[in-house]
Amino acid sequence: MLIFKQHTPKKRRIKLNNSISDQFFVLTFAPVYYMKVFKFGGASVKDADNIKNVSSIIQTYGNDKLLVVISAMGKMTNALENVIKAYYENGKEKGEESLDKVKQYHTTEVIALFKSEKDILAELMSIFDGASAHLQQSDKSNYDLDYDQTVSCGELASTKIVCQYLNEQGMKASWLDARDVILTDSTHREGNVDWKQTQLNIERKVNDLFEETDIIITQGFIGRSNSEMTITLGREGSDYTASIFSFCLDADSMSIWKDVPGILTGDPRRFENLTKIDRLSYKEAIEMTYYGAKVIHPKTIKPIQNKSIPLYVRSFIDPEGDGTMISDEVELNYPPVIVVEDKQALIHFSTKDFSFVAEHHLSRLFDLFTKHRIKVNMMRNTAISFTICTHEDLQKLNALKEDLADEFKVVVDRGQELITVRHFNQQVVDELKKGKIVLFEERLSNTIQMVVKDVPVVKRK
Ligand code: ASP
Ligand code: MG
Repeated sequence: MLIFKQHTPKKRRIKLNNSISDQFFVLTFAPVYYMKVFKFGGASVKDADNIKNVSSIIQTYGNDKLLVVISAMGKMTNALENVIKAYYENGKEKGEESLDKVKQYHTTEVIALFKSEKDILAELMSIFDGASAHLQQSDKSNYDLDYDQTVSCGELASTKIVCQYLNEQGMKASWLDARDVILTDSTHREGNVDWKQTQLNIERKVNDLFEETDIIITQGFIGRSNSEMTITLGREGSDYTASIFSFCLDADSMSIWKDVPGILTGDPRRFENLTKIDRLSYKEAIEMTYYGAKVIHPKTIKPIQNKSIPLYVRSFIDPEGDGTMISDEVELNYPPVIVVEDKQALIHFSTKDFSFVAEHHLSRLFDLFTKHRIKVNMMRNTAISFTICTHEDLQKLNALKEDLADEFKVVVDRGQELITVRHFNQQVVDELKKGKIVLFEERLSNTIQMVVKDVPVVKRK
């Protein structure tokens, strides 16, 4: 059973009307509004019909101030990743061919969405031409920098389209370049936010913009460094962007609109008979995302928890549904929640001189994990070896192996799954182990983690 606190909005914000000077009237009868931050992911804006749906959801919140964070359309981030890959691996011509596919996708949807598409198409083409000009000049010495300048086009384009469409529908929406407010360091593809400066920027620019408009449309996933370069915040980072805005605006609530009814007890692409969790604590949500639940980006919760801003995960397919509410509540009991991460590798390290794996070895290994940005999902130490479970990223793992070549024997065991069950019971665990070999298992009081692989099928001759 869950006990929850009813959320009461922190602020009663009042739309002041200058022509009314009577204080009593203003306080009693002026409309009350809430500051809400919405995030719409790629699936919700993947084509013209879906953009119309997003527009009608936004329209129902006409009495509030909305800051709306939007991701790139559909699978456009992947398509733009292919552009940069093609540029680096197969040359300019192939790169441009890939970019043409991205342009074509946007063009088709824009033609389906607008009565007159000329102006918006010109705006979109100038965004893509900017990326293309950058790549034409690149000496290919900094992949991550070139990646950010290219892949960010997806969000710039989708927000232009949605903003223009809302205005055509009679709403008054303003487009904000997220890079003008979100300041990061220079870590390409995984920018770290400068919170102090970002807070100041948002206070100045966004509040000013809200004086003139009720709806601000901005990009997820991107910011800018001091050296004026576009920086992305890591894949699926738009949730985090929404959380940054929520924190800095002291929002009354944040909503992530998804193609699922809320947070479920597992991934619907893998499991049947899942149930929706109506209410979750911030702590539980952080734990779930830490263990790899893909439903929300892991960095999202902390900032809003800090200000006790409730987070709703809701369905853009069924916008009336109440979704999942994440807040400061007291938790008593949750159903078992299953998180599966595939493409996992077990890496076994043993010393070349057959000595025990001692603290100084571990400290050397962890320094290198940090250097290569290898995230340890599970680990185990025995007398003569040390094993970790991590995401199977061959580029990173080969670089690590190279650095360790003189000191350690490194064996990589690929193709595993990491299954985590929060609030497990034996029945669920037994069910999950069916047809699997368990290579590694760890139980805490309310969490079990298992690294497993499929039992090989032996074919009879
Ligand atoms: N478009 C980016 C991605 O797909 C960011 C996001 O969707 O959150 O990774
Ligand atoms: Mg996306």
